[in-house]
Amino acid sequence: MLLAEIDDFATLRRAVGIARAAAVLDDVEARITAAIPAIRVVPMGRGAIELSFAGESVASGAAMLDRVHRAMEPAFDLDGETYRLSLRVGGVGAEAAEHDDVRLIEAAEEALSDARQANADVLRHLSDPVAGHDPFQLMRELPAAIESGQIFLQYQPKVRVRQQCVASAEALVRWRHPTRGLILPGDFIEAAERSNVIGALTLWIIRRVILDQRIIAAAGYDIPIFINISGVLLSDPGFVRDACALVRDGDARVGFEITETAVIRDPESAIANLRAFADIGVPLAIDDYGAGLSSLAYLKRLPAGELKIDKLFVTQLTSSNRDPLIVRSTIDLAHALDMEVTAEGVETPAALALLGVMGCDMVQGYLISRPVEFAAFRTFLQEERHIAAMTSPRLSFLRNEGQWKTG
Ligand code: C2E
Ligand code: CA
Ligand code: CA
Repeated sequence: MLLAEIDDFATLRRAVGIARAAAVLDDVEARITAAIPAIRVVPMGRGAIELSFAGESVASGAAMLDRVHRAMEPAFDLDGETYRLSLRVGGVGAEAAEHDDVRLIEAAEEALSDARQANADVLRHLSDPVAGHDPFQLMRELPAAIESGQIFLQYQPKVRVRQQCVASAEALVRWRHPTRGLILPGDFIEAAERSNVIGALTLWIIRRVILDQRIIAAAGYDIPIFINISGVLLSDPGFVRDACALVRDGDARVGFEITETAVIRDPESAIANLRAFADIGVPLAIDDYGAGLSSLAYLKRLPAGELKIDKLFVTQLTSSNRDPLIVRSTIDLAHALDMEVTAEGVETPAALALLGVMGCDMVQGYLISRPVEFAAFRTFLQEERHIAAMTSPRLSFLRNEGQWKTG
């Protein structure tokens, strides 16, 4: 069973209206049914369809998925205008004899949600242990996974609200596992921290980011790329020494994101090590502010130039009574401490507008861009896609049309 949704359906619906957007979904159903008669297609509304078929293995599922994507390639006609649409898919395979519809649907929904997060299709078998359920096995595999190229990075831009320019980017790690499919950091970072693999993983990430940063810098976009540094590493002298050496010799602009909770655990050595990073020119950002332990006493002592408000407060910004007050006062606090503020989890034009009024310096979130692989990130920079994403929804659709609308 595959659950598929039209990429950027919300934009399409905003542009052509609810009724015509729904009609598009019928066209998608007709298109796939005609191209692949063996598939049963059920439109689910809101840009989503359910596809089911019988096959031999998860591999035959992948082949079918390929055919589905190919069927979507020709442009769609909508009242004389042509549009290109693509699907984001999460899928699950199960033995025909033992499949239970509810479990299958739930597993497919989970796969789609992971696919959405990762901006890449996710296919699984129902009997696969969900990643993270067996962290020990995963950790035994991680060193070889780094070697064999299964670990990769996606990049998500942070954009200046007033100047409308890309200020920096954050590197987010993913694991493309040969049998379990895509694994997100939430499912393996914690285990990597507990099993001491985190140091090697983070050093690999720093090397990769240095190479990628040099490439975008050479193309004219010399912005720093921020790397998430686990708290446990802040009091690991071996890691700090190796990381400093990489950055010093790397000839690239990299920054580090750290949480305050990490500092509170072992403040003296963490603060000393953060100073060592700051001294060699690594910009520091405080991550997930407001979500964990906070202490004004430490906040003042950290050599950080940026404070990132946790997405927990930002995604609810326009629907909650309390969160705007928290965000507002956090912005003022950070400015009083001479720090710049980034809001993460900015998903709507309304949130962006409110943050702008509140004086927030930078924003990061799905509204601007999902985390994307390096090639797509370069295209994002070249085409200055953040500008379209930041203007009004209607305008953003029109300016974005090159992405998926043809002549
Ligand atoms: P984080 O540092 O808070 O990273 C931001 C997370 O929010 C990312 O999830 C990102 O995909 C997601 N996100 C971005 N924009 C939006 C939005 O508009 N709405 C919502 N709802 N979410 C958004 P991801 O990639 O799954 O990473 C989860 C966490 O894993 C990160 O949280 C970070 O703490 C950790 N992590 C990721 N990469 C690394 C790494 O290389 N090293 C370490 N130590 N931790 C990492
Ligand atoms: Ca982060
Ligand atoms: Ca964060």
